[in-house]
Amino acid sequence: LTDCDATTDVVLMCEVMGEATSVKHHQKKIAFLFSAMRHFAAELEADGLAVDYITLDAPGNSGNFGGEVKRAVRRHAIERVVVTAPSEHRVLAEMKTLEENLGIKVEIRPDDRFLCTPDAFEHWAQERKQLRMEFFYREMRRAYGLLMDGDQPVGGQWNYDVENRSPPKGGMAIPTPLFFEPDSVSRDVMELVRKNFADHFGDLEPFYFAVTRQDALKVLAHFIKERLPDFGTYQDAMVQGEPWMYHSHLSFYLNCGLLNPLEVARAAEDAFRAGHAPLNAAEGFIRQIIGWREYVRGIYWLRGEAYAEENYLGATRKLPWFYWSGETRMNCLHQCVSETQRNAYAHHIQRLMVLGNFALLAGIDPRQVNEWFLVVYADAFEWVELPNVSGMILFADGDYLASKPYAAGGAYINKMSDYCKGCAYNVKEKTGKAACPFNYLYWDFLERNRAKLQNNPRLGMAYRTLENMAPDKLKEIKDSAAVFLQELE
Ligand code: FAD
Ligand code: SF4
Repeated sequence: LTDCDATTDVVLMCEVMGEATSVKHHQKKIAFLFSAMRHFAAELEADGLAVDYITLDAPGNSGNFGGEVKRAVRRHAIERVVVTAPSEHRVLAEMKTLEENLGIKVEIRPDDRFLCTPDAFEHWAQERKQLRMEFFYREMRRAYGLLMDGDQPVGGQWNYDVENRSPPKGGMAIPTPLFFEPDSVSRDVMELVRKNFADHFGDLEPFYFAVTRQDALKVLAHFIKERLPDFGTYQDAMVQGEPWMYHSHLSFYLNCGLLNPLEVARAAEDAFRAGHAPLNAAEGFIRQIIGWREYVRGIYWLRGEAYAEENYLGATRKLPWFYWSGETRMNCLHQCVSETQRNAYAHHIQRLMVLGNFALLAGIDPRQVNEWFLVVYADAFEWVELPNVSGMILFADGDYLASKPYAAGGAYINKMSDYCKGCAYNVKEKTGKAACPFNYLYWDFLERNRAKLQNNPRLGMAYRTLENMAPDKLKEIKDSAAVFLQELE
């Protein structure tokens, strides 16, 4: 919209059934996106632009982008269509057919919600034998001059992650997130969601997301003031009943375009330079935004559509029902699924080390895991969800995105959370009915995937331990895993 001409141009925005149901997205996610769209349309109109806004229930709504563009071209006698590059292969393919279908020029422009274009990422990747986020991140720091002293990183190190692994401690005063009451626009959209998507996963209420840029900026300011100082230290910590921890809760707003990644990263740097936040917090946060977020998107476009089909470990198990219901005696999973159901949010370490770790260890089919992660989070879009699921948690791409699988037993979850205290299973027990399933599933996973993983240098120690394990102990592990996985079916 940067060179939109209010005297001649029309902005088309449409709510289409095909997108809302491409998978059965969380009810809160649909309400959030439609409400943000409607507010944005009103702001554009207030700025004097002509907006043609098609609601989901508008008469004649064709249910897909192509159909709506076609109808709009006829309605307005359009000569030229300008679209932002979609963030998904499926939608890009649809956009690419528009020119032929409409018989008029269609211009696809770069998406300015990102700092690195797919072409620039491809160029960076071409020069390397092996891709690693850390090196990409350093280039981004240099390119945008973030946390730099001349050509050197502030503090002398690029990465302060070793300071960002503290377990939770008793009596932490975790700040309450900034939430908003739904206004009349959001309430209308919630009614629409109730009517059309009642069978989708998740709780629609309470609805508390920011749906305007102004409110999203308030969430950013609130994060910088209240949470950023402890963001780094407790980045990996999980506490029962505390879904939000010290995380920023900005992914929803970044991904739909209410916030811009550079302004968010600069706000964190400013807080550090003003002495409000320590370096490990500011650096850790900026790394997530200009490092991980841009890196996974680069990989999504680089690997193409075939990435979704990858299954290096040959995992085929069905996704257990408790991912939808939360009904499991494993307290960590119960907590993370229930919070996801309620909030359309779980923080990174819950997604990675609880929900993802279990899916990896139990050998669940990547397509089903991908679908679940795409459905349940308000920040989930294929460009970011797919590399995180197939690459980061399931190792489905071999060692392309992650240098080793993020596999862990119950001890890790016990160290980084208080979930185990309230669990029906015993985290100290290694095998048998009462033992924490993560414990035997971890070794069983390594044993099952020995041929594909044992030469991974980062798993050398784990395989040496497995090598030295007494045969009857290994048998107990495999038996416990077999019984558990059988019951899971
Ligand atoms: P914070 O912890 O405050 O981090 C700050 C920001 O950094 C986030 O808002 C996000 O924009 C970015 N970020 C951090 N880690 C990542 C990452 N690994 N990849 C991309 N961006 C990152 N993020 C999504 O935005 N959408 C998804 O669908 C999504 N699916 C995920 C699935 C799995 C299995 C895993 C392990 C991670 C996934 N992530 C996804 C990344 C990350 O978990 C979320 O971005 C984060 O939890 C959002 O909460 P926050 O804004 O409070 O993040
Ligand atoms: Fe999760 Fe195991 Fe701890 Fe239970 S004991 S909460 S299953 S890690």
